[in-house]
Formats: sequence, structure tokens, C-alpha cells
Amino acid sequence: MIDMQQLMAAIRDSRGILLTTHCNPDGDGIGSQLALYHALRAGNFPVYMHNRDAVPRIYRFLEGSELVGQGLAFDVADIDLIISLDAGSRGRLGFADSLFAGRTLAVVDHHVSNTRFGDINLIDVSACSTGAMAYELIRAMGLPVSKAAACALYVTLLTDTSSFRNVSTTPEVHELAAELVRAGAEPWPIARAVYEDRSPACFRLQVRCMQTLELLHDGRVAWVHVDNDMYQETGSDGEDTEGLIDLARAISGVLVAVFMRPGDDKHSWKVTFRGKFDVDVGELAVSLGGGGHRHAAGVTMQGDYHTIYNKVEQAVAAVIG
Ligand code: 5GP
Ligand code: MN
Repeated sequence: MIDMQQLMAAIRDSRGILLTTHCNPDGDGIGSQLALYHALRAGNFPVYMHNRDAVPRIYRFLEGSELVGQGLAFDVADIDLIISLDAGSRGRLGFADSLFAGRTLAVVDHHVSNTRFGDINLIDVSACSTGAMAYELIRAMGLPVSKAAACALYVTLLTDTSSFRNVSTTPEVHELAAELVRAGAEPWPIARAVYEDRSPACFRLQVRCMQTLELLHDGRVAWVHVDNDMYQETGSDGEDTEGLIDLARAISGVLVAVFMRPGDDKHSWKVTFRGKFDVDVGELAVSLGGGGHRHAAGVTMQGDYHTIYNKVEQAVAAVIG
């Protein structure tokens, strides 16, 4: 609560607020950022948005997503408060250290692995999404939840609970969802935009990816990957990999699903984990230098495919027993 008071005071005192989220942003990062943007704008606060990476295509239907710059559309000298949303560590933001110098950094996040890297740290590991925390902040400040904000917040619930399916789907989550629907968020058009507006290329990539399936450790581990050749053959890209790992986890008997795809630079791979029962893949990812939640986590690793595969497979073997 003290952190919430500190954050509200920092917002009220600020000359310029920058809202940002982690690299390769997801629905929670973008949704919490946009919702807070709409609410703070409505309250006449001087608020701006900037991320390292572009808004993924599936979230571009959200109002205000076109305002999330990659090039700065404002004078950075005007910023004295940076609010980081949904990032577990400063490195996840992907910005040079100089951006943070002389500015207050407020961290709003729900990752257990959060390193408390802000001057103000609003961390709630029981929150189903960072968006749910942004909602609390908006309400605590007495700001309105417009239709645009409600849609963005609904996206954070939908995506971070894996469509109201995972362990963080509490009665409170459904109550908040109901409130957001009353405020104008429309579940079906939102679900359509997020899950059912994929290109044929994306579908073809899914086929290629599923062909790589390996079942290890007596079927308790499912392993899939995509590579640059597959992107080229199908005309797809990294954004089209969204949800692939969930298909692998759906296989009966699988405790851990692993998905690998090329990283942002030539020498890295992004490794994603999904857990289904007791294995804590968040801890697994942390042990490899990444982060995440009990049932969804990831890490970016430097090296070639086979070296990383072996390293990850050893770590998986250790937790699978
Ligand atoms: P996703 O599979 O949706 O990309 O990621 C699931 C979760 O894993 C995210 O919410 C995030 O917490 C974590 N995660 C994914 N990739 C990375 C990464 O490269 N580094 C870290 N630290 N966490 C990641
Ligand atoms: Mn999140």
C-alpha cells in the first residue's frame, strides 16, 4: 500500500511520465500500458508511451496502440518519471542505462522473479496480470475506465490467464472481467482479434512447427521449435509463433513443454516453457537466467541451437526427475 501511495504521489508530481513495457511485448504489457495511458490522459497527466519493440499485430486493434512509439515522439528531457509495466528486471526493458539516469523509475509488475529494480516497486505476485494492478492504480487515483481502457485491461486478463484457464483465474478475475465488459469491453470481438485473425502464413508455420515435435522423458516433455528457414518458407515471422507452445503442452502426459525460436540477434535463441502440473517452470527459467511464472516462463540465451538445446535439456531433466 505504501508503494501505491508513493506511485500516486510520483504521478501527481511529475512533469512528464513515460509508460513502457518489456521487449517482445505481450498482451499484458501492451494492455496495461494502454489502459494506464488512457486513464492518465483523461486525468490530464502529461503521459507518453515508448517501447523497444513494435506492438504485435494482434494487439493493434487496441485504441492508442498506434501511439506507442519506437522512435521517440516526445522530448525525452521532459520525462522525469518512468513507469515500467510487466517487466521482471531492468534488462527486460531493453533500454540503455542513460535513459534511467536522473529519473524516477517506478516498477509495476506481478512476476515472482521481479528484481525490484525501481525506486518505487509496486509488486503483487498474486495479481493475475499487470493490467489488474493498473486497474487498481486507476481506481485508487479516481480516474475513469473508458471503453478503450476497459478493452486494454480485458486483454491483459484474457492473455495472462491463458483465456481464463490457468491457476491465477480466481473469482476476483471473473468479477473484474465482468466489470470491464460492463465498461464496454466486448469479449467476442476481442477474442477474435487476439486469437482468430491469423494469416495463412501463420497457419503454415504452425504445421511446420508441429512437425518438429519431440517427446522426451517418457512423454513428460514436449519439445518444438521454429527456425529462420521455416519463417522464410512460409512467409511468417516471430509474431506468428504466439500460442504454438500451448499446443505442445496440450498433449496428454506432458508436464513441461519447451519451444525454441530464433532470438532478436543472430546468435541468440528465445526459449519458452509451459508447465501443466507441479513442475515450476518459472524456477526452471530463472535457473537459466530468465524469468516468468509457475506455468509460463522464458529465457533468451546466447549460442547456437544445439548448445542451447543441450543446456536446456539438462536443466529440464533435473527438474523432471
Ligand atoms: P511467453 O511464452 O508468453 O513469451 O512468456 C511467458 C512468460 O515468461 C512471460 O510472462 C515472461 O514473464 C517470461 N519470459 C518470456 N521470455 C522471457 C525472457 O526472455 N526473459 C525473461 N526474464 N522472462 C521471459
Ligand atoms: Mn504479465
